[in-house]
Amino acid sequence: MGAMTVRMAMKVPLLDLKAQYAGIRAELDAAVHRVLESTRFIGGPEVSGLEEEIARYSQCALAIGCASGTDALLLALKALGVGPGDEVVTSAYSFFASAGVIVNAGATPVFIDIDPSTYNLDAHRLEAAITPRTKAVIAVHLYGQCCDLTAVKAVCEKRQVWLIEDAAQAIGAEWEGRRAGSQGTFGCFSFFPSKNLGAAGDGGMVTAQDAKLADRVRLLREHGARPKYHHALVGTNSRLDALQAAILRVKLHHLDRWSEGRARNAALYDRLLEGSPIGRPYKDPRARHIYNQYVVRLPDRDRVRERMAERGVGTEVYYPVPLHLQACFAPLGHREGDMPNAEAAARETLALPIYPELTEEQIRYIAATLRDVAEPT
Ligand SMILES: *Cc1c(COP(=O)(O)O)cnc(C)c1O
Repeated sequence: MGAMTVRMAMKVPLLDLKAQYAGIRAELDAAVHRVLESTRFIGGPEVSGLEEEIARYSQCALAIGCASGTDALLLALKALGVGPGDEVVTSAYSFFASAGVIVNAGATPVFIDIDPSTYNLDAHRLEAAITPRTKAVIAVHLYGQCCDLTAVKAVCEKRQVWLIEDAAQAIGAEWEGRRAGSQGTFGCFSFFPSKNLGAAGDGGMVTAQDAKLADRVRLLREHGARPKYHHALVGTNSRLDALQAAILRVKLHHLDRWSEGRARNAALYDRLLEGSPIGRPYKDPRARHIYNQYVVRLPDRDRVRERMAERGVGTEVYYPVPLHLQACFAPLGHREGDMPNAEAAARETLALPIYPELTEEQIRYIAATLRDVAEPT
């Protein structure tokens, strides 16, 4: 047994939302009661208040609440008129929604490989993927770090294609001082409970700079009706509940503190894992990383994950199958080897607990356990 062996077992889940609730219980309960008493459950001041606050927080002119991050992406594509015959370029390594929405809009996804250091799309491969049919690029900011927006924006401008930022994991993240969601035509956010700003259920937001395009999203999320019962467009029902909006407004006040806590935890992991063979996350000096996930890299990831579970540490694999190899995209004709960096990431990455309420003792236990398990003596 090496010197790093920790004898006392501890249980640390991947995410502990009870710890978060305990810290803000009174404020959150009051907000929920406020909405219940008001009986204003759809639209109203909580939703418009949150839209204004998220727009300001994300350095965007406008924001439109919707039912989920997935819907935010789909509404953005539809507002841009993306449909059958169009291609949309995105990363081969992301949560499924980044690609699923392209098919649901009627268009064809075109995947590009990732930069193996950041896991974000490799901007150097972007231009070669653009064809005369390309309508848009969905640039994902994975794990809480923006992709190279300088390079991506330059290509989108040069080739005249729309840029949609999938900022579902990146609220408050920055690229060269500008917030995620503020550089694309649209920014798409998710309030799924495990995101840095999580609702008590589903929720999403589209941010925009252009008032006309933002208005199209606003129309599409309510069946294209204006005025009520008069439909110029076929949209859908994709609203953000007032209850969720009220909860999110409370949590937004704590978001910077939480994201700083995550970054502090990440810095501690970085120190504790130094000198080990465990691959630590790369932080680009141009980025403000909000660490929605802290993802390490190991050649024998699955074995390590099992050993960690035996010692009480919750971990997760984001994501075990790259998008181009998902069964539903078989008609696109990809095979293993097409996107080697995304495929290696799917085999080797492991997310550790990173939530802000973690104690230093827990992080030390996780890091020591990981070193112990990854370097058996
Ligand atoms: C969570 C997530 C989404 C989808 O958000 P939902 O609110 O779960 O629909 C989209 N893209 C990425 C990268 C995500 O992490």
